[in-house]
Amino acid sequence: MNWIERDSAVVWHGFTQMGCYADNAPVIVERGEGRELIDVDGRRYLDAFSSLWVTTLGHRVPELDQALREQIDRIAHSTLLGNGNRIAIEFAEALAQVVPVDQAHILFASDGAAAVEQALKMAFQYWTNRGVSGRSTYLAFGGAYHGDSVGSLSVGAGGFGTDIFDPLRFPVIRAPTFGDPQAFETAASLIDRHRHELAAVIVEPLVQGAAGMQLAPAAQFAKLRIACQRADVLLICDEVATGFGRTGTLFAAEQCGLRPDILCLGKGITGGYLPMSATVASQRVFDAFLGPDLSERTFYHGHSYGGNALAAAVALRHLQLFGELKVLANVNERSVQLRRALDSLRRSRPCISDIRLVGLMGAIEISDAAGAAKTARKICAAMVQRGVLTRSLGNVVTLVPPLTITAAEIERIVAALTGAIDEAVV
Ligand SMILES: *Cc1c(COP(=O)(O)O)cnc(C)c1O
Repeated sequence: MNWIERDSAVVWHGFTQMGCYADNAPVIVERGEGRELIDVDGRRYLDAFSSLWVTTLGHRVPELDQALREQIDRIAHSTLLGNGNRIAIEFAEALAQVVPVDQAHILFASDGAAAVEQALKMAFQYWTNRGVSGRSTYLAFGGAYHGDSVGSLSVGAGGFGTDIFDPLRFPVIRAPTFGDPQAFETAASLIDRHRHELAAVIVEPLVQGAAGMQLAPAAQFAKLRIACQRADVLLICDEVATGFGRTGTLFAAEQCGLRPDILCLGKGITGGYLPMSATVASQRVFDAFLGPDLSERTFYHGHSYGGNALAAAVALRHLQLFGELKVLANVNERSVQLRRALDSLRRSRPCISDIRLVGLMGAIEISDAAGAAKTARKICAAMVQRGVLTRSLGNVVTLVPPLTITAAEIERIVAALTGAIDEAVV
């Protein structure tokens, strides 16, 4: 049996129709080097979607490898439930210094969905602990994606093939999509109208990634901030996708002028090395949970691997490297380069109906009478044949390269995209 046969015999791949998996020429990765993935046959692919947006500095970064080796000689994991771990403390201290949250307190988990789930439950209990009743719903945006657990799925909008779970979703108050020019005015008036029912508002600052990189102007978010303050409703920012430099600042909330009560982090937190996520609460939220030992004010929630020591060691070194390697400067320079290249490609390729890019989160929207989703998928398959790995999301081709991508590698991505469009669009 070859690797693909062995794979499809035992591994169930997420968001993947297993009946067709083997026929869609999956890449079976064996190794990585810089921004490249190397498959079991030694073929090299430029990782142009950062292993679904988690890889920041590339693969096998010497400094991160070293941090992992040093930590493994101390301990791999010890629980944070009721006890502490030195490296988790050190990382939490460093993270608290840089997040746009007042006097941050950090609850670790392993996946973005769990960080969102924690945020939702925290917001609900915040009001209960303060003796305020009726604050049991949330306002979320159209097009939102917050993860796949039942709670995070509920605040997420439909689509992505998840509509089948509608009977499991709890109801939320739904603001329009970012594409609606009135989205933030409408959200503000909904917050006002439902102020006594809302525990929190949840939003992806600046860009809704899974919706196909739907952008909202940074200035619009002030309306949300003001509405939450006026109505005394907590604000949750989901920066699982946008956090850690992806949009050109360490956190997208900075560009939006937001200081959320609760911030959700994941994906890039360990540079794409190990599963870790975090729910960051402000002092105000944290204080509402203080009380006597074993009291009901306690936040009775926690995950087995939360604050894993190996992940924390890598995450700490990763945060330090942002300054040392001047990562944000590279993100902004490469973003300008990619924008220019894509704009010029668009002028000669009418199948491209829109280009959306912020930092190194990019989407090329395809419009095609033959069915844009199929065409976008065909373009990605043709890019893989040209040695550039990415993934389509509905009718968009996503470009989310590692933050350390070079100018030459951007050219390689655009050349593969151009060739792929010319092959796939007839
Ligand atoms: C990916 C993502 C999540 C879910 O993270 P997982 O680690 O896949 O559970 C949540 N919110 C946003 C904005 C995301 O992009």
